[in-house]
Amino acid sequence: MAPYSLLVTRLQKALGVRQYHVASVLCQRAKVAMSHFEPNEYIRYDLLEKNINIVRKRLNRPLTLSEKIVYGHLDDPAKQEIERGKTYLRLRPDRVAMQDATAQMAMLQFISSGLPKVAVPSTIHCDHLIEAQLGGEKDLRRAKDINQEVYNFLATAGAKYGVGFWRPGSGIIHQIILENYAYPGVLLIGTDSHTPNGGGLGGICIGVGGADAVDVMAGIPWELKCPKVIGVKLTGSLSGWTSPKDVILKVAGILTVKGGTGAIVEYHGPGVDSISCTGMATICNMGAEIGATTSVFPYNHRMKKYLSKTGREDIAKLADEYKDHLVPDPGCHYDQLIEINLNELKPHINGPFTPDLAHPVAEVGTVAEKEGWPLDIRVGLIGSCTNSSYEDMGRSAAVAKQALAHGLKCKSQFTITPGSEQIRATIERDGYAQILREVGGIVLANACGPCIGQWDRKDIKKGEKNTIVTSYNRNFTGRNDANPETHAFVTSPEIVTALAIAGTLKFNPETDFLTGKDGKKFKLEAPDADELPQAEFDPGQDTYQHPPKDSSGQRVDVSPTSQRLQLLEPFDKWDGKDLEDLQILIKVKGKCTTDHISAAGPWLKFRGHLDNISNNLLIGAINVENGKANSVRNAVTQEFGPVPDTARYYKKHGIRWVVIGDENYGEGSSREHAALEPRHLGGRAIITKSFARIHETNLKKQGLLPLTFADPADYNKIHPVDKLTIQGLKDFAPGKPLKCIIKHPNGTQETILLNHTFNETQIEWFRAGSALNRMKELQQQ
Ligand code: SF4
Repeated sequence: MAPYSLLVTRLQKALGVRQYHVASVLCQRAKVAMSHFEPNEYIRYDLLEKNINIVRKRLNRPLTLSEKIVYGHLDDPAKQEIERGKTYLRLRPDRVAMQDATAQMAMLQFISSGLPKVAVPSTIHCDHLIEAQLGGEKDLRRAKDINQEVYNFLATAGAKYGVGFWRPGSGIIHQIILENYAYPGVLLIGTDSHTPNGGGLGGICIGVGGADAVDVMAGIPWELKCPKVIGVKLTGSLSGWTSPKDVILKVAGILTVKGGTGAIVEYHGPGVDSISCTGMATICNMGAEIGATTSVFPYNHRMKKYLSKTGREDIAKLADEYKDHLVPDPGCHYDQLIEINLNELKPHINGPFTPDLAHPVAEVGTVAEKEGWPLDIRVGLIGSCTNSSYEDMGRSAAVAKQALAHGLKCKSQFTITPGSEQIRATIERDGYAQILREVGGIVLANACGPCIGQWDRKDIKKGEKNTIVTSYNRNFTGRNDANPETHAFVTSPEIVTALAIAGTLKFNPETDFLTGKDGKKFKLEAPDADELPQAEFDPGQDTYQHPPKDSSGQRVDVSPTSQRLQLLEPFDKWDGKDLEDLQILIKVKGKCTTDHISAAGPWLKFRGHLDNISNNLLIGAINVENGKANSVRNAVTQEFGPVPDTARYYKKHGIRWVVIGDENYGEGSSREHAALEPRHLGGRAIITKSFARIHETNLKKQGLLPLTFADPADYNKIHPVDKLTIQGLKDFAPGKPLKCIIKHPNGTQETILLNHTFNETQIEWFRAGSALNRMKELQQQ
């Protein structure tokens, strides 16, 4: 293998990259390290400034903060076409973060790339695989045992390829990023949809699929459609029971789950200063629920305070020097503008089943009665990456303390997930954890737990109608406990705590009274708590593993008999011919999200084993032929059977296949398994009315052909029993449609046109068999 510097030079040359800037290489003028853990990787505000100046001169208009940070990371600021909502930007992110469920496939793909080390600082965080059952320590021990093989793989792969590894128990990825790695002006990508949390510290932090992370780790420019910018102007100030969570619950109610698509939400205005840094992170975190690319706040004194408290005064000082580039220009233009007066904002609670169903807390009980939602709250859950800061825990403890003073405990069950080991240790030291226990809470492990469905819930049977309230971000059907009858509501941690004490949705702490043990009525006062600890944070146990300088002797273990991990085999190259007589695996009816294509829940444990997880391929999609999920006709045997089994049958018999889809195919999360699985089981093309953008890119990366009907009505011309031939691949070129011959079983044929969005680079991926294969070809040139 050639030395790394030689490999990247070759890649740069082959990709036509004008400027290759690995932070550690071009750091001569930089003075401040990005994090304590990487003393030789510097913040490049000088480069950000230079790029912003180039773009400002070209565009000749005031810039939003989002534009400054995004365009400040352009690979070629002088020549890049920039048009919001239209052009694709080639960007150079500063760092990569991966959580343990997605890191497995990302690292397996990176191993396949053949590169010896990652090109930008990267980290892995063990948080998703810990199931909440008995409480913190016991659950953590159990998770370490059950997931030992996966953790060992991630730890050794991290050590081998230069990736920092945060062990199980360290905390939730986004809290660790906020405490250690995010900073104003950073461009960070993470293989998790709530990566935007880092916008609370003024960074542009974007959730992506593993294949995108591999590009960035390999030093290849990362493509993003030039985002639109939605401005949210905050006036007034937060007070009383109203919290940062209420800002995003209100915004979600206004924009709905799709309203932020393709846009960055940029908060600004005088109200910003009344929100703590971790509160701003809460707001950005939950921007994922409105489909936004990410969200961001301008650099201010609250961020400075947080940076200093987390031991990064040097970053705060440097950010002060470059402050002009870390706030929006006066007079900048937003594609849409929303105004919220924080003085008028009331505590909100959203749900059930969708995070954009907003209700003021004062009204939810009445709505619930009318709708027949259970008023009785079975469980209140606080924590998650959205709301697990010191301030969140302090405000919850402040509510709990008042109940205890009147001899009350929670009527509902109550759980607490601290966001990080640092938060856990500090709330233990400062007495908050004890107060939350005394009021009836169970402190769970520093992990995602019930937020991602890792919850061994015992208090109800599956199918039993019930209500839970959480301070999490998502409340889609079955997310927390796999029970479709669980009505989950999201709200702030202090409101969760108050509701768990009252035990009913029909309680408004702003106006209603509780009855103390002595029979006297009392009202809970609005909670007041420090945003940051008075003393320094207690770091707790050391849970970080830094990659060694010399990793040449490091082994990465993947057992060939493992059921959870599997090394990737390269996909086959295009054979240079048109795709003749493709069988239709399934013609999908209606909505088909990445959850329908590659389900989560119990399948989470197979995220590192492509063959095993492929047994969930398209099991949630509805077959147009019979209106059923996971039931398709085998064109050879004529028998109906599960989708994955039928795909495997075709693969075994050398029959190549295609999927026909409807509108916005592949919406939802960015998981690349939804693209890897069809490729692994012999799929060649996915033909739809339209695609969700990230999924379309993921399909291209795995060597599949995502194609769209030039005339959407042609969807109706195709029947599940037809065969399709795709012609024109020898002259495959950007913007040039392909031909598709539909062969009906009665011998008749029809020809239709198929569009695509492939550019030159992506056509190379197709020819090579995948983006990874192409990367390897370039290394060998
Ligand atoms: S706490 Fe929940 S939302 Fe946050 S990263 Fe974990 S699973 Fe995702």
